[in-house]
Parts: sequence; structure tokens; C-alpha cells
Amino acid sequence: MSILLDSYVKDRWIAPSTRLVDIPSAIDGHTVARISSLGLDFGEMVHHARTVGGPALRALTFHQRADLLRALAEYLNARKEPLYALAADTGATKRDNAIDIDGGIGTLFAYASRGRRELPSERFVVEGPTESLSKGGNFVGAHVLTALRGVAVHINAFNFPCWGTLEKLAPALLAGLPVITKPATQTTYVTQAMVRSIIESGILPPGTLQLICGSPGDLLDHLGGQDVLSFTGSLETSEKLRNHPAVSRNAVRFIAERDSLNAAVLGPDAAFGTPEFDLFVKEVVREMTVKAGQKCTAIRRILVPRALEGAALDALQTQLSTVTLGDPRLDGVHMGPLVGLTQRDAVRKRIAEIAREAEVVYGDPEKADVLGGDIRVGAFMGPVLLRCGRPREARHVHATEAFGPVATVMPYDDLDEAVSLVAKGEGSLVASVFTYDEASADALISGIAPFHGRVLVLDRDCAKESTGHGSPLPGLVHGGPGRAGGSEELGGLRAVYHGMQRTAVQGSPRRIAALTRAWIKGAPAPVSMSHPFTRDYDALAVGDTVWTHARTITLEDIEHFAQFTGDTFYAHMDEEAAKANPFFPGRVAHGYLVLSFAAGLFVDPAPGPLLANIGLDNLRFLKPVCPGEEIRVRLTVKQKQARKSEYGEVRWDAEVFNQQDETVARYDLLTMSARRRT
Ligand code: NDP
Repeated sequence: MSILLDSYVKDRWIAPSTRLVDIPSAIDGHTVARISSLGLDFGEMVHHARTVGGPALRALTFHQRADLLRALAEYLNARKEPLYALAADTGATKRDNAIDIDGGIGTLFAYASRGRRELPSERFVVEGPTESLSKGGNFVGAHVLTALRGVAVHINAFNFPCWGTLEKLAPALLAGLPVITKPATQTTYVTQAMVRSIIESGILPPGTLQLICGSPGDLLDHLGGQDVLSFTGSLETSEKLRNHPAVSRNAVRFIAERDSLNAAVLGPDAAFGTPEFDLFVKEVVREMTVKAGQKCTAIRRILVPRALEGAALDALQTQLSTVTLGDPRLDGVHMGPLVGLTQRDAVRKRIAEIAREAEVVYGDPEKADVLGGDIRVGAFMGPVLLRCGRPREARHVHATEAFGPVATVMPYDDLDEAVSLVAKGEGSLVASVFTYDEASADALISGIAPFHGRVLVLDRDCAKESTGHGSPLPGLVHGGPGRAGGSEELGGLRAVYHGMQRTAVQGSPRRIAALTRAWIKGAPAPVSMSHPFTRDYDALAVGDTVWTHARTITLEDIEHFAQFTGDTFYAHMDEEAAKANPFFPGRVAHGYLVLSFAAGLFVDPAPGPLLANIGLDNLRFLKPVCPGEEIRVRLTVKQKQARKSEYGEVRWDAEVFNQQDETVARYDLLTMSARRRT
């Protein structure tokens, strides 16, 4: 019995009616599901997302959206088994599912944590410090990020039906953008089952997630300047989407992640017998065989020093011979089939193109031993290793992505040549470098970095904890220049900001401080009636200020501090030596003495709601303080951030002045203050 794939449109499941297309199993070709999006009103979907989903999401703070992501992650985590079972028909093994299903859920968790930790409990983000724009200090500017008012359309590749969907969904929802997701036809049934689970959970507000099973029809015609289009797949489709009239005319934000001829480079020092050589062999074989090589990050080009080529080829062939190809549901199978027979045909064609410039040294695209499967009905293909002896003159090995368990070994003579060969890929998602030699690592990293979104330097020191060449991580950028699409995904909050507009807002310090909820110099700083340390977190207002009385710093203070702390640096203790220093007029007070006395001036000593001093940021000593000079302090509530129901973090702007009202030190003081008991 095949599954009929309903789409989720305007908060309802809609069954496909006409022109159904069969989706065959990768293992034996039986029809797993049937799909069609004919008859769906894509304009209505966009309208629904913009008018129902968008407002619902934007009504929530970042922290509330982050909580939705965490709840979703927990919900899906408890319902993974049915997804594993379905994914077998796409060819996925247990190891592949760990990347796709568990990896996708992990990405939700990661964005939930980042949203709570790194974003404010607000609906907009202030990016970077306030810019001073005038001499008098009464005209300033700040950058704010606000959620776009449109929809995020996600068009995904077949290879990661869960991770591909979730890694785009999490940052979009966190940004406040509703999502219309369209998985690739071949593996839609896995995505659909996951989306069904998400909808059943009832966690997401109405209109925030819609699913198209089948062709996206005229969806792109409805996109405008407030929308974002994210794509993963082939270069050809990406070109079509980028050049779509509505996308180019309306400057729809377009993020593409596409073909990538990722490289692994064995360093000249990493000879047979070194840990780096072993790591190289293991990593290359893993990358060739995970997801049967159908991975945007898989290693396609293997660069080895000419002197090590024989050893590298031998070791790779030996290791590849241990890979068991077969039915992914069986124990002992390392690699499942490709996603379908059409895909296998495409891979065979690509191998034939590459083979015009290279020889096959391991495997046969037409033949393979299959455990529990039949190569005539299932899309099985064993690993195929090629060798290209003249990579400088070659074209296909650097440009043809055979999206299967296929890679080509090529020799290089020196590091400059290795760099230029890697660059012939015209931009990739990731490259790995295997070396323990400082100079080789430096030359390779600086040479290939401009052509990559990510570079992994794998050696004996990090191998044990390394997440490997092929794993995009939520905290690190995923994407690459040129052929790889020229975009970035993930990278922590960077992906969230794709769904937001950055705006420079200019105005008076009062206006900008009110907007950013952060006090800046020039904004009102009312002196509070009671000491702010005596008031709980909720009673403190941004701008509340305390001015201290003045205290004179004597030579005895400096000497006492020096003996007490052991800091007898000459600038504090030796008049002649201090005078010879261009920064000091003579002996001066320690910076830390100034800080300590400042605390002594502004602290209110009695027990109260202030719980702890948790650190200083942006500390600068701006002018020396000489013996006999006075200091006093202005302390202003700069920013507040509620951390828990019991306490919140307060950032204070602390400025220390001398008797001439010149600033001698400035810093942010961070404290934790108790919240009001309700
Ligand atoms: P495609 O580019 O064919 O498809 C990717 C997605 O785009 C699918 O969801 C597909 O839908 C959709 N799509 C196709 N045509 C259009 C269109 N005209 N308008 C809107 N959407 C469209 O890539 P595949 O996933 O089929 O993979 C093909 C090749 O792409 C692979 O062999 C590989 O070379 C490369 N690839 C690269 C990846 C990377 O990240 N570097 C990842 C995956 C693939 P539908 O399936 O319904 O046609």
C-alpha cells in the first residue's frame, strides 16, 4: 500500500487528486508513495503565511519562539522511530538517519538554546554598538534588525528530508518568518511524516508552517521584497530560481546551496604511518559512503602529494573493500542504495564524464555485491574511486559532481599547486586538510579559505573530538562561494538574520536609547532617590543613575595597594622610571586601584536585592591618576536582561572622573539582581 501524500495548506491537509506521480523505493522499486500538488492555490498559501502566520509569530518574543523550537525538538525526539522506518526506503542506513533525523532535531535544539541565550526577550535585535555621528554627541545611530513581513519559502534537495527541512525552519521561525516548505519529490514522504508530527503537536501557531508535496507550481510568481527564498539542490535549478522574473524583479532574498566539488588535501608531511595519514583514509572513505555519497559536503576531489600517491591509493582501496553495500535495514550494511534508479543513471553518466580524464581504480558503476538486495531493481552502486594523473589540464574532475559514492584522487607537486587545484572547483562548501606541519597548514588554510565556507584542519590533536568533514554544524556557517551557491546558512544567529531587515536608525541619544532599551551617553540619566543597589531588578529603570562623592588617591594608597597585591610595577613605585615612560607624568595609581576605589565609592554595603558582581566588559583606562588627585563615579543602568524568574542581569555604565571632570576609566559592570517577589 502506497502513501497518498497530502499537502498542508492554510492549516488543513489537502489530499492530492489528479496526475499522481509514483515515488519508488530505492531498495526494490515498489511504489512507496504517490504525490501531486495540482490544484493547490499557491498565491493563497503565500497570503495565508503573510497574514496569519507572520503576525502570530511576530507577536512572540525571541525567547517565546525559542521555546517553541525546544518544544518541537522534544516532541520529535520522542517520535523518531516511524521516521527511521520510512527513511529506509530512501536508502538511508542507521548511520545516515543519525545525520538526517537526529541531526535535524539537534539543530532545532541548538537554535532553541541560541535564541534563549543570545537574543533578547524582545521582538527586534540591536546589532553592534551605537555609532556616534556628531561632535556634540547629540546625534547618534544604531542598527536594528526587525522581522520581514513576508514568508520564507524553502525548496529542498532529496538527500536530507528531515535535516534539510529543520535547519532552514529553525532560524526562520526564530526570526519571526512563517515557512512554506517544499521537499524534493523522491523523499517527500519522510518530510511529510515529520511535518505531520509537527502539526499534530499543536506547538506552532496557525499559518506558520505549510507543506507542498509535489511541484511548487506558480509559487515564485507570488514572492516579493519581504520574502526569502532558500534553495538546496542542483546548480541548474538554482539558476532557474535566481533568474525567475519575480525573484529578480522584486529582489527576493535568495539563498542557494548547490553543487560542490569538495576537496580533501593530504599534507606533504602526512606520510604513511602518521596519524594524519590514517585520519585522511578514514575520513575520505566515510565521506564517500555516508548517504551513499549523496551529500552536498561529500569529498569529491582527493589531493595527495605525488610521493604519497601510491600509498594513499593502496590504503583507500583496502578501506573501501571493507564497505558492505546492501539493504539499509540489515545489520552489517554500511552503505545503502542511491535514492532511485534515475539518480543512479545520472551518477553513472557523471562518472563516464569524469572518466574521460581519469581512470577508475576501484569499483564498477555497473556491478556490485549487494547484501539482501538486487542491483536490477534497487538503486545500488558500490564506491567508485578514480585517479586523474593530469589534474591541472582536467576540467570534469573539478566541475562534474557525481552525486554518489564517487571521488577522484589526483597528485600535486607542491603546496602552491595543491591550492590552485582546489581553487579549480570554483567555490566549495568545505575542504579538509590533513597535516601536522605548521607551515603546510598555514599555506593551505590561507590559500583555500577564499574558496570555501568551511575548512577543517584534521590532525592528531583534534581528531578524537572532531565532528568530521561532512557535518554542517548549527554554530558554524554552511555554504560557500561560486559554484556552491554564494550563500550562507546556519552559523548561529547569522541564519536568523537572513529573515530580518537591518535598518540604521538615526536620532538623538534620548530617542535611540528609548528604541534600543539601552542607555547611551547624552540620554536622560535621572539621579535616583534611593541607591539603585537597594532596588530589585524589576524596580530598576534604564537610565537610573547614582553619582558618588569624591575620594583623593594618595601616595600611601598606591604604596599600600602595591605591597598588598604584589603589583610593584615601576610606574607605581619608581618616580624616575615612570617619568621616562611617555604615558606617565610620574608615579601613577594602579588601574586596578582606581577600579577598586570606584567600587568602594558606588557600592551600597547592606544586604539587598543585588546578588553578585559577574564581571566587567569594555574596560578602558583613559587617563592616569596621579597621587593627590580625586576620583568620583557615575553609575547608570545601561541595559537589563531577565535571565530567570528569580533574577536578571543588569549592565551598568560606569564612568570614573578626575577632579577636572575628565574620564579616567570607563567600563560596563555586570551584576545579577533579584527579581520582585510576586
Ligand atoms: P534539483 O535541483 O533537481 O531539485 C532540488 C529541489 O528543487 C527539489 O525540491 C525539486 O523539486 C525542486 N525543483 C526542481 N525544479 C524546480 C523548479 N523549476 N522550480 C522550483 N523548484 C524546483 O536537485 P535534486 O535534489 O534532484 O538533486 C539533483 C542534483 O543536485 C544532484 O544529483 C546533485 O548533483 C545536486 N545536489 C546538490 C546538493 C548540494 O547541496 N550541493 C544537494 C542535493 C543535490 P522536485 O524534486 O519535486 O523536482
